[in-house]
Parts: sequence; C-alpha cells; structure tokens
Amino acid sequence: MTKYIKYIKRKWANVSFARHITVRLDRCVVTFTFDDVPVSAFENGRAILTRYGFMGTFYLALSFMDGREAENRFTLQDMKKALIEQHELACHTRGHIDLSQTRFEDSVRDIEQNQEQLMDLLPGNRFKNFSYPFGAQTRAVKKYLSEHYRSARGIGHGLNVGETDLYNLKTVKLYENRMPLEEIFRLMDEAAEQRAWLVFYTHDVADEPSEYGCSPAYFEAVVAECARRQLDVLTVDKALDLIESKQDV
Ligand SMILES: [Zn+2]
Repeated sequence: MTKYIKYIKRKWANVSFARHITVRLDRCVVTFTFDDVPVSAFENGRAILTRYGFMGTFYLALSFMDGREAENRFTLQDMKKALIEQHELACHTRGHIDLSQTRFEDSVRDIEQNQEQLMDLLPGNRFKNFSYPFGAQTRAVKKYLSEHYRSARGIGHGLNVGETDLYNLKTVKLYENRMPLEEIFRLMDEAAEQRAWLVFYTHDVADEPSEYGCSPAYFEAVVAECARRQLDVLTVDKALDLIESKQDV
C-alpha cells in the first residue's frame, strides 16, 4: 500500500470516528511512553524514570517477548519489574501488525491475543491503553478500541489540549537524531503555557540508539528537565484519571 493511501485511511479513520474529551488542566502533565518495547527501554528508560520518582507507560507487542534479534526484546522479568515499580504496561498489538493493511477480524484477533497472553503471564493485570503500530488506523479498529480500551495513542505530532480525540492521542518523538533537546524543551515551555498533556514516545534507550530511539543521556536530560521544572509526570492511565476528574468541573 502506498504511503499516500495509508495517510488517507488514517485521515478517514479520524474524520469519521472520534471520541473527544476536553483536556483542561491546572498545569501541564508529561507522560513518557515506549513502543514495542526494546529491552533497553526497560533497562535504561525504566531505571532513569524510577530514579527520578516517575513512572512511564510501556506499549508492548508480546510477540517480541524473548526475541532473539540484535535488539534483544524484553522478558517476563522486565514486565514484572516494571509493574512492581508502578509503571504501566499497555498494548501495541501482539504481532506488531499494520492495522491499516490487516483484515478487521485478524486485527481484532491479534489485539485480543495480546490481552489474553498478558493475563496468562501476569494474572490480574489488563492492558487498558493502546498505541497503534506505525500509527496506522482504520475506522473499524478505532471504533473497536473505543469499546475495549481507555485510550489509543497515534504518532501524530503535537500537544493534547482542549478538545482531544481519545483514540488518536498526539505525541512528541524522543528520537535523538531528529529532535534536538532545545526543541523538546521549547515544547515543554509550550505545554506549560497551554496547560497541555505532553505525551513523549520513543523505542530503544541505548548508547547507540536506532533512528527511532535515543541514548540514556538524552533521555535523562528530558527526565531531569521535568524534575527541575517540577512538572507532573504521570502514566497514560493516571493522566487520564486526572483529565477525567476535571471533565465536569
Ligand atoms: Zn511499534
């Protein structure tokens, strides 16, 4: 499928179906999210957040668990450790499939398998929030997610403020080779000014990061800046608790 057709599908998914909430906060909130998740995000990203007393959200594709690729995927131990430290485990489809290129029934089966496998591995837990692999969306999947998940994060750049589509949350990349720290800090200024919800996302947090990740030093610079500015850093789920509590105020 061409990039253009994928773009049209995503646009259509968002024009034709949306569930809006109003993000109206007293002060901005920051959330750190990781997609897939490479083991370095668990080891370095998690450890850095924990050291600063913050928690993040990990959108897992369980087919990557115990993977043998160079990237070294996460283990059950990583998941357990994250839960003990109060981080959030969330869902990113089991097979990391492109939902815009998959039949709806197959998409649902894959999403359900991810959920069921997690409940087998970690009884009593549920992935409540979702992120779209490649940001790919269809109207039908989006609607399905709205019935089974609390939120879904896309890959569209921006801050979440005012009228916000809960099933296509906006995000800001922590991709070291594309987003200089000055630009990240500028977006933090903007989020503070607008009292927005700023959701960061990345993949690996490694000394030699991929083009979709960052180094531990870069990641820590962002986390330390949140601490220095005394910002509220919450998981997706906790941020939604806060946003929902202010819906009717
Ligand atoms: Zn992904």
